[in-house]
Amino acid sequence: MSTPSNAIPIFNPRTGERDGEIVPPSAAEITQIARDLRAGQVAWEALGLDGRIAAMRRWADAIEANAAQISAAEMRDTGRKRVAHEVPFIVAGSIRGWCARAPKVVERAYFEGTSTVMPSVSYRTQLVPYPLVGIISPWNHPFLLSMLDAVPALIAGCALLVKPSEVTPRFVEPVTETIATVPELAAVLRYIVGDGGTGQALIEQVDALCFTGSVPTGRKVAEACARRFIPSFLELGGKDAVVVTGSADIQQAAAAVLKGAVSNTGQMCFATERAYVAREIYAPFVEELKAQASAIALSYPDMSQGHLGPYILARQADIVDAQLQEAVDAGATIEIGGQSQTLGGGRFMPATVVTGVDHSMRLMRDETFGPVIPVMPYDSVDEAVALANDSEFGLSGAVIAGDADEAEHIAERLNAGAISIQDTSLTLYIMGDVEKTSFGISGLGGSRMGPNAMLRFFRKKALIRR
Ligand code: NAD
Repeated sequence: MSTPSNAIPIFNPRTGERDGEIVPPSAAEITQIARDLRAGQVAWEALGLDGRIAAMRRWADAIEANAAQISAAEMRDTGRKRVAHEVPFIVAGSIRGWCARAPKVVERAYFEGTSTVMPSVSYRTQLVPYPLVGIISPWNHPFLLSMLDAVPALIAGCALLVKPSEVTPRFVEPVTETIATVPELAAVLRYIVGDGGTGQALIEQVDALCFTGSVPTGRKVAEACARRFIPSFLELGGKDAVVVTGSADIQQAAAAVLKGAVSNTGQMCFATERAYVAREIYAPFVEELKAQASAIALSYPDMSQGHLGPYILARQADIVDAQLQEAVDAGATIEIGGQSQTLGGGRFMPATVVTGVDHSMRLMRDETFGPVIPVMPYDSVDEAVALANDSEFGLSGAVIAGDADEAEHIAERLNAGAISIQDTSLTLYIMGDVEKTSFGISGLGGSRMGPNAMLRFFRKKALIRR
């Protein structure tokens, strides 16, 4: 059979080989899928909260039963190990978490009473779900990021049209098998594969949109949503800073900074991308960072080896290489690590520590998305706070000090939505628990985290009686 002209190739990040392709649906097909989902949503909403929760619990069971297949597909798309094994369980856990908290969230959002200015007038709230919500998600955590917003939206009573990244679409097939085991859900949850063109066609069909991805694409998506006057909930990039004070335990701080910087080969929105370290410990801290970085082996030639997997997207390696080269040309020093290497066809990069950096460099300003940690000394806490806050981004950050109270005082002064104290990247553990607003260009449209995230998927209607 010949390859359709609109087929999009898929590459294996470990070998660089083109080993698959996806064929996006046409605009007419997307329109029909959206119509079917809208039709299905009527029965889904009529099921009521308890009925939807029961269906979602069955889906969580199906995901766990199919975890090996979902993980295998994701590992092939991302070239990474470990984290991928856990993903189906994190998603199933998130479903169960939302099933447990949803009734309380809905109850708390309900108001009834009498008017304070006209006591003969009474009112009550009706929560009306958006019939069809769209999700557009990135490649760094394919299944997880396609589902973070989808789960509360489904429980709220919305139908969902999901378009994950064209770079990592293989998980869609085993996940679709799990959806098919819950017929009520299958009528309201559809994945489609495709690139930005498919994303734009999706936006034309939905009543609200959740987007996770880069700032430039987020801008295009927000514009398209604004033209249609539909809400867009945007979760975008980051340039997380960590402040390490002079009283910090050097070994522990270096371990936390390195973990934040290189986990998932730095391809995380809340990766630690800048370190500001008190001058009195700067030299030994850099030495410790180098020693620990040198112990992190590449996950090569196969997944059983090492820790640091390949770049998921070869183009990302070029972006990071260019930032590094520019920094070196402007006077920075690579203390350990360096440019990406092509091994067995995949693009790998060792854990890389850079000094001699300043804020004129893109390495300190733009999102890097690679296993690189530039380190800069500071002379006062005020200076450290000013440097950390000197960024357009404001996703999250971290502070490590001799004691947690000292760290927390500094954390209160940082302009970002979630600050990890005495560690990095702790956001991961509080997803369902507490709200967080992205500062600056890191996001818009309210918090995807915390119980109230579910309320974004309702229109709030007031029924007012005389
Ligand atoms: P991207 O912006 O290139 O793509 C994201 C999604 O948008 C993909 O599905 C893509 O096909 C789609 N898309 C591309 N052009 C489009 C268009 N014109 N209209 C509609 N959709 C379009 O991002 P990426 O490279 O896949 O992911 C990496 C980025 O995601 C990083 O910036 C990272 O920080 C960010 N991210 C943010 C979070 C968060 O929670 N804040 C989480 C993970 C990743």
